[in-house]
Formats: sequence, C-alpha cells, structure tokens
Amino acid sequence: MNTPPPPLSWEAAVAAPDTARARKISRIGILTSGGDSQGMNAALRAVVRAGIHAGLQVYAIYEGYQGMVQGGDKIRRLTWQDVSGILQQGGTVIGSARSSEFYTRPGRRQAALNLIQHDIEGLVVIGGDGSLTGANLFRQEWSALLRELVAEGRLTQELADAHPQLALVGMVGSIDNDMFGTDMTIGADTALHRIVEAVDNITSSAASHQRTFIVEVMGRHCGYLALMAGLATGANWLLIPEFPPEEGWEDVMCETIRAGRRAGRRHHIIMVAEGALDRGGKLLTCDYVKKTLSERLREEARVTILGHVQRGGAPSAFDRTMPTQLGYAAVEQIAHTAPDDEPQLIGIRDNRVHRSPLMENVRKTHRVAELIKAEQYAEAMNMRGRAFVEAYQILQTVMLAQPRPPKPGQHQLRIALMHADGPAPGMNTAVRAAVRLGLDKGHTMLAVQDGIEGLARGKFKEMQWTSVHGWVARGGAELGANRREIQESDYARIAEHLRAQRVDGLFIIGGWMGYQFAYQLHQRREHTPEFRLPIMCLPATINNDLPGTEVTIGADTALNTIIQVVDKLKEAALAARRCFVVEVMGYECGYLALTAGMATGAERMYIPEEGITLDDLRADVERLATSFRRGKRVGLIVRSERADMYYTTDFIATLFEREGGGCSTCGARFWAIPSKADAPRRLTGSKRRASRERRCNF
Ligand code: ADP
Repeated sequence: MNTPPPPLSWEAAVAAPDTARARKISRIGILTSGGDSQGMNAALRAVVRAGIHAGLQVYAIYEGYQGMVQGGDKIRRLTWQDVSGILQQGGTVIGSARSSEFYTRPGRRQAALNLIQHDIEGLVVIGGDGSLTGANLFRQEWSALLRELVAEGRLTQELADAHPQLALVGMVGSIDNDMFGTDMTIGADTALHRIVEAVDNITSSAASHQRTFIVEVMGRHCGYLALMAGLATGANWLLIPEFPPEEGWEDVMCETIRAGRRAGRRHHIIMVAEGALDRGGKLLTCDYVKKTLSERLREEARVTILGHVQRGGAPSAFDRTMPTQLGYAAVEQIAHTAPDDEPQLIGIRDNRVHRSPLMENVRKTHRVAELIKAEQYAEAMNMRGRAFVEAYQILQTVMLAQPRPPKPGQHQLRIALMHADGPAPGMNTAVRAAVRLGLDKGHTMLAVQDGIEGLARGKFKEMQWTSVHGWVARGGAELGANRREIQESDYARIAEHLRAQRVDGLFIIGGWMGYQFAYQLHQRREHTPEFRLPIMCLPATINNDLPGTEVTIGADTALNTIIQVVDKLKEAALAARRCFVVEVMGYECGYLALTAGMATGAERMYIPEEGITLDDLRADVERLATSFRRGKRVGLIVRSERADMYYTTDFIATLFEREGGGCSTCGARFWAIPSKADAPRRLTGSKRRASRERRCNF
C-alpha cells in the first residue's frame, strides 16, 4: 500500500484555502512566458518537486503559450530528476516565447484541447503582466472554448464534462520588478546584481579618466532597477519614468557635475531607465543626455546600454530561494483551488509568501502605466509604494555634490557613528548614507574609529560630504570594526569623550556586541548622565542572527559569495562522482547554511538549531549512498560551523567515506570544504586538496 506523502510545510505561509470546496486536481501544467528572467528555473523546480511530493503529475509546457497551442511533444511530464541541476542556470529550461496565436480565440481553443488531451486541470503561469492577463482570459473562456470544441466535433461532451474548470495560479517572472502583488518579481534581484557588477567595472575605468558615464538599464514603465542600481552604485543623477525631472533639469544636472568635480569627484554616473520621460511625456534617451553634456560641459560622456546583460548569468541567492518558496506555495494553492475561486498571484510581501487576487494586481500594474501616460506623476509614484518613494528621496540627497544649506531654525545635533563587532559587507554603504543624510539635515556627523575601543580612546573624526566618497562599493569597514572586549574601566573614559565631543546621539552599526554595548550604556544612564542620549543600532552581520530584523546588513552578500563558490565546485565535480561537505559561517545561527543549501540544491543542511544526531548521520549516509548508486553525480552537504561540537565537517566527510561503502562500481569522493573566507584559495592548493579528498565507494 502506498503511504500518502507527508503534508507540505508551507501551509503557514499561505493562508489555508477552503479545502472542502476544492476539487481534487491530479495533473497540472507549468509554463514560463514573456521575457525570461533568472530564477524561473528555481520556481519550476519547486513546482515540479512540490507537485510530485503532493501526489500530482506535473507537465511542462515548453515555449510558453506557443507550446500550449502547438501541443504534442511541447507538453511533457516532468520527473523529479528532470529538474535536477537547474537551480543555478539563468533563463528558463522549458523555454519562453511570445505567441501571436494565443492572442486569438482559435489559438486558445487549440490550447484548451491540448491541455485536455493531457488531462491537465490546473496551470501555473510564470510571466509578466501580459502572460498573466492571457492566462486569466483563457481561464475565463474555458467553458466557452470547450463548448466550441464540442460543437466542432473535436472534443466529446464526456471529456468536456470531465474538465469543468481550469485552476490558475500566477507568479511574476520579470526583471523590471514592475508588478503589484509582490515586493519583488522573480529575476529583479539578479538583474540588479548584473547592473551593479557592470557599473562597478565602469566606475573603475571612469575614475582613472575623470569621466561621466551614462548607463541605461531596463524598465519600460518602472524605474525600480534604475533607482536601486543608483543607490547601490552611488549614481549622481537618475532618470525614471515615474518621476520625470522638472523643466530646466539639464542645467541642474550639469551644475551637479560641475560642483562634483570641484569637490573632487573623479567620475559621475547618470542612471537612465529605458522608459525615462521628460515632463512632456517625451522619451529621454541616453543620446540626448550625452548631447546635453557635450554642449553644456564640453565633455564627451560615454554611453553604456546594458541590455540583455541584465538577464544573463546565474541567478542570485535571493532569486533561487524566493522562487523556491513561491513555487511550493503555488502548488499548495492550486491543489486547493475551488471552481469559483479567483485566480491568485503568489508573491512575496515583507519577506513572507503572499497571495492576492491575480487580476487586481494586473489592473493596478496597468494603472501606473496609464498614470504615467496621463502625466500624473505624483499618483504614479504613490502607487509604487512607500519604500520606492523613500528610496527615491534618499537617492536625491546622497547624490548631491554638497549638502543643502541648513534651513533656519533647523535643530542641529552632533551624532557619533561607530561600528561594534566584526566587519560586514554593506557597513560602508550604511555609513555613507548616514553621513550624507545627517549632514544634509544640518547635523555634525562624527565618526568613531575602531569601534568600542576607539570610543574609549576618543578616536573621533568629523565627517565631511566627500569623506565617504566612493564608499558605496567598498567591502569591509572603513571606520574599523573589531570584536575587542570592553573593560569596566572603559565606561568612564567613554563618558568623558562623549561629554568632550558634545555627542547628542549615538548610532551603532554592528552585530550582537553593538546591541550589548547599547544595552550597557542604557543600564548605566542613571549614574552616568553622558549616557542619557538616544542610541540606535543598525544590525550588520553576515550571520543574520540578530533580533529586531529579518535580514541583517551583510547576510545577502555572504550568501551570494557562498553560492558562487558552491556553483563552481558543483560544475567542476560533474565529470566525476563527488560529494562536498561545505562548512559555512553563522556562529550559533543556521541561516547561512539553510539558505545557502536551499539556493544551491544541497541534499542536507546541518544547523545548530537542529543539532546532529547519530541517527541523522546514519540515515543521511544511507540516503546519499542510495542516490549515488542510482546514478547521482554530485552531492552537496552544507554544515553550519557550529552545527555540532563533535560532528565536525572533517568528521562528517570521513564518516560518509567510511560508512557509505558497498558498491565498488560507483565511487563518490568526499571533500570537506572549510568555512573561512579563504576556502576558494585553499581549494586551489593541490597539496591541501589531496589531503582533503577522500574516496568513497558506495
Ligand atoms: P509579459 O508576460 O512579459 O508581459 P507579453 O506581454 O509579451 O510578456 O506576453 C507574453 C505572451 O502572453 C504573449 O505573447 C501572448 O501569447 C500572451 N498574452 C499577453 N497578453 C495577452 C492577452 N491580452 N490575451 C491573450 N494572450 C496574451
């Protein structure tokens, strides 16, 4: 007797649908449509595997709607193995195409017939607003299309009756991040990675020549990529469709560049969304910006149109984990859809899987485009949401060449900025933003060097606008960050320096040590008046283990570094059967291991929250041995550095090697990969590699 699969664990993420009304669906189809985007494969893999796990048969519809209209071998059932090794691939392995036939009723009628021939009762569509609109129309017309097919004699009434409805669930695949119903579309994060990489490369060349670069990024109706890339790369001017610049903006832009040069800026970046408009609704092209700079500044700016580069390369960590979560939730949703339920869009909101009515989101998305067309820009900006507007305002400030003069009566404070705990990527960007936003409000921004120790020694430095120039792309911590313990006697010295510097507020960017330090100051405030000041902590650590935030500064970069290394390992290992036991950082928190495991398709993650037992290890050895015996070529185990005190990474690799024995014809090698940042370097050392490589005969 077949035991039913255990229930999926995503119920909590998606509000439980009314299962009593839902009709049991046994076959679903999945297609990717419209422009491709990185992360579509992760969503596909999740839908296939979650579907199989839930007892469904999952059919891929190759080449989007074109394949649905064509039928035949364009609609094929996928197995668990068919979606192996696709997580790290860009684009979509089932293809995406635009289909003119699907716009027509006969085309959709043929598509319906093809689905029925495969007994498909539910559709998961991953695409942009066009694809989702088409899917909704198809679903609405479903009964009518079947009636027409029966009338034409191409479908029996019996078969039509057996397929009274088509369940539909949508996910947004688009690099533009232009859809309502989700905070992030599948592919937008990777596109941002590509833009930032490209601009970083351009900037290094621009700095040696004192140049201005005009960079065009995608986004026909949405300035998200340009705006976020502007923040992430320290752009000096931004043009987006939602907020065309005021008349006479050309003068302001040229003056900004002139002032920037006077202040010592060596390069300028002008970020242009491909759909950027002026106040009259005319397209603002890179060529126009270039011509303007040439005429008014006598400067030959360089134009870079990033184009398809933005869709290229491997998906980022986020574009693997987020679509994976959405894919699982989509299966939950479709398996429980009742006939009269509105189709849902599965997206992400505030870091949680979120479902909302599909067509309402499509309508809102179209509404923004209409508002832009009608030159109602304030409304268009508002519809983009608070985070978008805030990001825009922040960029408008940090890209200035100098702070604006303080307004009369503006309350001016002396704010000290410092790190506590070790460095994390992104700390410099946070300091840059804090310094500039503070200076622009008329405050004095004091940097404390070398963390808590520096504070005890009075190492203050007054920051200027240009002090943080270029910090946006720098790793580490320019102010200095360390984990040196504080002594009791230090508090008196700290109080003395805070008084001497007349510090009104303390801003700590750091990890747990920062939290503890803030707490200690707060505890002492009754006896030490100098500590009666506002203290703020901005969580920054790669471990993502701090309370009060879901993602800490630095964790995303660490994750992306891990997956890049693991991708390379897996690629190299494909030729021979190999299994890697990769150790990652995380201290007492398994976030990096768990998320990196999800993003790289690991077989097993060992995390401190769960610990490791002998029974676990025995079962895992058995499971992996079976997989290798069945033809598996690459295995991956991710172990958090503190998953267990005794079952170390080396131990696990040795154990698997020794205990996995049995079938000498399909040997797998086990490599233990240490967690520290020099892991890639160690890997290239052949001696070290030889000593860490172990042969395992399964
Ligand atoms: P995106 O999904 O990225 O917005 P498109 O707008 O090009 O991309 O749509 C992709 C495909 O979806 C189209 O080629 C067409 O087959 C189908 N489609 C889009 N809009 C509709 C519609 N209104 N009716 C029927 N099919 C549509």
